[in-house]
Amino acid sequence: MSDVLFRPITSDTPVNEVSRIARELLSDLVISENLTLHPEIVLKVHFGEKGNVTYLSQDYFAGMIDYLEERSCKPSYIETNVLYRGERTTRERHLKLALEHGFNRLPIIIADGEHGEEYSEVHIHGKHFSRCKIAKGVADAPQMLVLSHFKGHYFSGFGGALKQLAMGCAARGGKLDQHAGQTPHINFFTCKRCGLCAAKCPVGAIRIGLFPRIDSKSCVGCAACISHCPRGAVQANMLRSLSGSFFERLAEYAYAAGKDKPNLYVSIAANITRGCDCMGLKMKPIAPDLGVFASTDPVALDTACLDLLARHTGRSLFKRGRRTLAHAEKMGLGSREYTLREV
Ligand code: SF4
Ligand code: SF4
Repeated sequence: MSDVLFRPITSDTPVNEVSRIARELLSDLVISENLTLHPEIVLKVHFGEKGNVTYLSQDYFAGMIDYLEERSCKPSYIETNVLYRGERTTRERHLKLALEHGFNRLPIIIADGEHGEEYSEVHIHGKHFSRCKIAKGVADAPQMLVLSHFKGHYFSGFGGALKQLAMGCAARGGKLDQHAGQTPHINFFTCKRCGLCAAKCPVGAIRIGLFPRIDSKSCVGCAACISHCPRGAVQANMLRSLSGSFFERLAEYAYAAGKDKPNLYVSIAANITRGCDCMGLKMKPIAPDLGVFASTDPVALDTACLDLLARHTGRSLFKRGRRTLAHAEKMGLGSREYTLREV
C-alpha cells in the first residue's frame, strides 16, 4: 500500500496556482517520506510535439524548480528522441522545439544522444525482456523527478508516470522494442538508395541494392536507421502496439527505467485530452481538470489518477491502460493499492 498525495484543481485554476500547489505537494512528499534530494536531480518532462497546445508548459513546473534550487539542487530537464519522424526525432531538432515551447529555464539533456543511439542495457527478469535499452542519460541519472501530464493515449490507454518511464526513458531502440518488437523495414518506393542508413547501421545489417533490405538476423533493433534516413523510408511496424502484450512491454520498460532509483513522481491532471502530447494537433479536453498528485510509487500514482477520473466522469475512460498497471505491479514497480491523502 502506497501513499499518494493529492490536491484538487479545477479547469479555472490558474497555471501559477497549479505550480504553487505542485511545489507544496513536492515539499510534503519529501518531508513525509523522509527523502533525500540529489543535487543533480533531473526533471523528466515532455516538451510537446509541434502544433500540440495542451502539453504542460514550463510555467506548471516553476514552483517545483524554485523549491529544488532553494535546496541547492542544480536540476536539468531530461528527454529522449521519439521513434517516429517529427520535430523531436534528433537531438538538434528536439532542443530547438523545446526552446520554441518555452523550456528555457534549465539545461536540457537529450538522454539518448543525437539520433537515439546512446543507451545502457538494464537487465530485468521480465516476461518479454531480459535487457532493456534505457537512454544513457537516464541510466546515468542519480535521481529523477518524473513530471507527467495525465491524459489519454491512443495506444497505451493513458499517458502518465508509467508512460513517462517506459517510452519516455527508452532510447529509440527501446521504443522500437515496445512498439514493434521487430526489425524495421525499408519502403522500396520512397527509398532513393543513398546508402546513408547502411553507413550508419552499427552492425552492417542493411544491404542497398535494387531492393534495399534489412537483415533481421543481424539487426539489433537500435532504430538509428529510422532517424538517419532523409526520406523517412525506414519504418517500424507499429501495428504490434495494438496487441495485448504491448501493455506488458510498456510495464517492463517502465520497471527497467525506474529500477534502483530513488525517484519522485508528480502528475498534473489538467487539459485531459483523448490523445497524447506527442500529437501535433489542437485537441479539446474531454474531462474536467482533476488535480495534482505526488508519490514515490508510479503505479499507485497512475492508479489514483485513473480512479479519480472515473469518479468525476462516471465513465471508465482510458481503462485499457490498467493492463500496464497490473503488469507493472507484478514486476514489482509499485502497488495498485494506495491511500489518497488530500493535503
Ligand atoms: S537512408 Fe533512406 S533513402 Fe537512403 S538508402 Fe537508406 S532507406 Fe534508402
Ligand atoms: S538495421 Fe541497423 S541501424 Fe537499423 S535498427 Fe537494425 S541495427 Fe539499427
